[in-house]
Amino acid sequence: MNLAQEVAKRRTFAIISHPDAGKTTITEQLLLYSGAIRQAGTVKGKKSGKFAKSDWMAIEQQRGISVTSSVMQVDYDGYQINLVDTPGHEDFSEDTYRTLMAVDAAVMVIDSGKGIEPQTKKLFQVCRMRGIPIFTFMNKLDRDGREPMELVAELEEVLDIDAYAMNWPMGMGKQFLGLYDFYNKRVELTHPEENGGNDFLPLNDEGEVDGEYKFKESSIYTDTLENAELMREAGNQFDEERIAEGELTPVFFGSALTGFGVQTFLDAFVDFAPAPSEIETVEEGHPVEPTDKELSGFIFKIQANMDPRHRDRIAFVRICSGTFEEGMDVKVTRTNKKIKLNNTTRFMADTRENVKEAVAGDIIGLYDTGNFQIGDTIYTGKDAVEFPPLPQFTPELFMKVSPKNVMKQKSFHKGMQQLVQEGAIQLYRTWHSEEYIIGAVGQLQFEVFQYRLLNEYNSEVEMSSMGNKIARWISEEELDPKMSSSRNLLCRDIHGKPVFLFENNFAVNWFQGKYPDVHLEALL
Ligand code: GDP
Repeated sequence: MNLAQEVAKRRTFAIISHPDAGKTTITEQLLLYSGAIRQAGTVKGKKSGKFAKSDWMAIEQQRGISVTSSVMQVDYDGYQINLVDTPGHEDFSEDTYRTLMAVDAAVMVIDSGKGIEPQTKKLFQVCRMRGIPIFTFMNKLDRDGREPMELVAELEEVLDIDAYAMNWPMGMGKQFLGLYDFYNKRVELTHPEENGGNDFLPLNDEGEVDGEYKFKESSIYTDTLENAELMREAGNQFDEERIAEGELTPVFFGSALTGFGVQTFLDAFVDFAPAPSEIETVEEGHPVEPTDKELSGFIFKIQANMDPRHRDRIAFVRICSGTFEEGMDVKVTRTNKKIKLNNTTRFMADTRENVKEAVAGDIIGLYDTGNFQIGDTIYTGKDAVEFPPLPQFTPELFMKVSPKNVMKQKSFHKGMQQLVQEGAIQLYRTWHSEEYIIGAVGQLQFEVFQYRLLNEYNSEVEMSSMGNKIARWISEEELDPKMSSSRNLLCRDIHGKPVFLFENNFAVNWFQGKYPDVHLEALL
């Protein structure tokens, strides 16, 4: 195997979107084109419970969450695509954010009827912070949605990123004639049968289609030509470097449901999305190169109890350099412990299989019996490698928690400590009474926490919701415990740092008005 060639073929990315924008549908199209599935509806089937393969933890089955699709590796047009899932809805959790630490690019799917929605915005901000390229797919053009100009303007304004339209829709809904494709210099037609059997027709030097075709008779075509002219003159310039830096997002239009424009999008995506590149380590000036001989990688997600019979956990590793081979010995930097990797898994569309070999850019699952934590680095070779810690994210939901049975304090504390360390949940104590408060970015984290405490630590807990809060950190020097009130509960985080849990934005503003010199800080 030629490592450099293999690495160059990798495209490791996540799809970010608000629920219902069409992430699953577009994933399905990708699987169809890659030949991994033969029929649309296979991926969706999991949600409706038809998918029988999964033996993940009961809680996930109850909720119908498809963890089998956590990572999918498929061939597409000579590329090895690693698509990492970012669960949404109620399954949204810190893992969703951490997943974005393990990818080299993101695809942002937007419902053209709705525009930028809250969850898209949150996930986008994490991608932005990482400076990875972001590709936009404006979906559902088969329906009447908002004006394309308006959508692109909103994208630029709300997300504070420049956009470059790679193609432009000719109409929408029932009047959707096709795509005017700047990038490929052609039009792509939704109704080839009405246009001499042509799916594609080239644009001439004036940017028009030669010859007589039905779609050209519509005023939509002439309107599109005008818009195209406007975009060329007033819009951003295509700039590959700015795309790579995540400063400019290429925008594609289409319909995931009918598959229209998806392949055009994917073809451009695999061309422009980056192959794995160097990754910084804690040692400044000593990044790891994907083609380095020695293996290195980090753990970005731990999925517990995927198989209830074994009570095992799977640690998801992003390989950053070298080649993984089944049965190899690696070291965990944090513990300096040597571990043989002989039970690893790779994820396909609907199956899991043992991995024999994997390279930088790939994601593999390690069966874990408690050796790994989120953020751990593994490596081979003489020289220890350590990747920077994964960022922590500001939780938004909070619960008070206490053991149901006071006689079982010990198992409660042990379980709590373990789960917090693992990154499953964030822990806070109230300033004076030292009550336990747990924080999460998604409701699912609480359920998993409760489930695991009971099943793994035999500890039943009492939880009472405190609802949404805005967590803001304050330095010890600036803090006066008298600043605390019922609307900004003072707590300590796991490191002992003071943090206020504000009722709402109004309470934050009120506080800042009262103490204008005090600095409040959020995590990411
Ligand atoms: P996800 O929550 O982002 O994974 O969204 P899904 O892929 O499950 O899609 C949500 C709903 O939108 C489903 O009913 C899809 O059939 C529908 N949908 C997805 N893409 C399109 C599209 O291009 N056009 C139309 N009309 N509906 C779509």
